[in-house]
Amino acid sequence: MAGWEGDGGCVLRSGAMRIHFHGAAGEVTGSLHLVEAAGRRILLDCGMIQGSPEQEARNAEPFSFDPASIDALVLSHAHIDHIGRVPLLVKRGFRGPIFAQAATADLMPIMLLDAASLAENDAERANRRRANGVPEIVPLYLREDVVNAVEQVRKIDYDTRTTIAPGIDITFRDAGHILGSCIVELWADGKKLVFSGDLGPKGTPILRDPTPIAQADLVLMESTYGDRNHRERLETIQELGEIFARAHAEKGNVLIPAFAVGRSQELLYWFAQNYDAWELSRWHIFLDSPMAAKVIGVYERHTELFDEQARAVWQRKPLPFKLPNLHISESVDDSMAINRFEGGAIIIAGSGMANGGRIVHHLKHNLGRRNAHVVFPGYQAQGTLGRRLVDGARWVRIHGKDYRVNAQRHTIGGLSAHADQQGLLAWYGQFEGAPPVALVHGEDKAREALAGEIHERYGREVFLARPGRFIDA
Ligand code: ZN
Repeated sequence: MAGWEGDGGCVLRSGAMRIHFHGAAGEVTGSLHLVEAAGRRILLDCGMIQGSPEQEARNAEPFSFDPASIDALVLSHAHIDHIGRVPLLVKRGFRGPIFAQAATADLMPIMLLDAASLAENDAERANRRRANGVPEIVPLYLREDVVNAVEQVRKIDYDTRTTIAPGIDITFRDAGHILGSCIVELWADGKKLVFSGDLGPKGTPILRDPTPIAQADLVLMESTYGDRNHRERLETIQELGEIFARAHAEKGNVLIPAFAVGRSQELLYWFAQNYDAWELSRWHIFLDSPMAAKVIGVYERHTELFDEQARAVWQRKPLPFKLPNLHISESVDDSMAINRFEGGAIIIAGSGMANGGRIVHHLKHNLGRRNAHVVFPGYQAQGTLGRRLVDGARWVRIHGKDYRVNAQRHTIGGLSAHADQQGLLAWYGQFEGAPPVALVHGEDKAREALAGEIHERYGREVFLARPGRFIDA
C-alpha cells in the first residue's frame, strides 16, 4: 500500500521507496521524477519544459535537487520533453550512468544536438534584439554539453533485468509510443514501481503495442489524453486523404507540423500504404527536417523493433522512406527553396507543436493563403503556436510580427502517439489488484477525468502528482 502524498522535506523512513515529482506533474512537458530507494537517488527522465517563452524560461532555473547527488538517470524515451535537460544536468554536476534502451540511445544525440542548436539560435536572435544594458542571453547548453552527456549513456535492451545501482534493478518494456520507448519496471527495497513513460495506442504503425504489466506496488502513469478518446485511426487516415484531395483541387499546399521522431516516419508509412489511392504521385512531398532524416537512419538500424505488419510493408514498394517524389531537405537552402511552391507541396516539418523549427517559416509563408491547409496530427500544448492555431486564432505573432490566418486548419486526432482514455484504462486494468496510481504528464482536466474513471471502475483513489510533492510506494 502506498503511503499517501506529502510535501517535500520529510525524512524518508528506512525501507521505503519515495518518488518526488519535479516536472510533468500537472503539465505535459518537462518529465522529471526522483526516486529515493535503497539509500540511492535515481532520476526518471530529465525533460525539457515546452510551451510559451515564459514557460520555457523555467528550463534554465536551478534543479530543485543537487544534480551531483543523483546516482543514476533512467530515460523512458527520446522525446525532448523527456530528455531535453540531460545535458544541463550533466553540466551542473551529474556524473552517474544514464540508462537508455538501445534505440533511445541512438536517437538521443540527434535530438539533443538539435535542441542545443535551437537554444544557440534563439539566444543569438534574442541578443540581436536586446536593448542596451540588458544582460546577454546564454543558451541553455551547447553542443559540447550534449557530447559530454552522451558519454554517460549505457544501453539496455528490452526485457533485460539490469542492476543500475546497488539494490536497484530495472527492466525496460516496450511502450509502443516511439521507437525505443519504454515502460520502466523498477525494483528496490522489496517494492516495485512501474513508470509508464509515454504509452502508445494499440496498433500504432511500425511499433509493437504497449506491454501489459501484471504487478506493481505503485504505478506512475501518463495521462496526456486522460479525458478523451481518439477517433478511429482508419477514419483519420481517410480524412487525411480527403484533405489532400481538397488541397489539390484548390491548388494549395499542405503543411504538417510533425515531430521528427515517430510522427514523421508514421506519416510516410501511411503515404506509402495509400500512395495510389491518394494519387500522391501528383505532389511534391517534402520532409523538411535534417533531424527526421537522421531518425530514419535509426529506424533502419532497428528493424528488429518493428511489428509484424511493418516488416511485411518493408518487403513491398514503395518503401515508406523512399517514396519516388519524396525530397528530404537537409540544408537551409533546400528548405528555403520550398517557399517557391505556392501549391502542390506536402510539407512535413518540425517542431510538432510549431513552437520552433522549420515549420514556423513555412507557416509564415502559407498562413495567409486561403487554399493552404495546415494539418495537426499531434497534441498541441498550451502556449505553443500550434495550440493558438488549433484554437482558431485569426492572427498570430511569429518572430515579433503579426500574421493573418486564412489557411484552413485540421486537427486529425487519430494519429496520436499516446494512448487515449480507453487505452490508458485498459493498460491500467491489466495490473492485478488495481495498485495505487499517481498520474503524471497530463494537464489537470485530463488527469481529473482519468482519475474519476479509475476511481469509478476500480475503486482506487488516484494521486495527482504536483511539483514539490512526493508519494511513498
Ligand atoms: Zn513522448
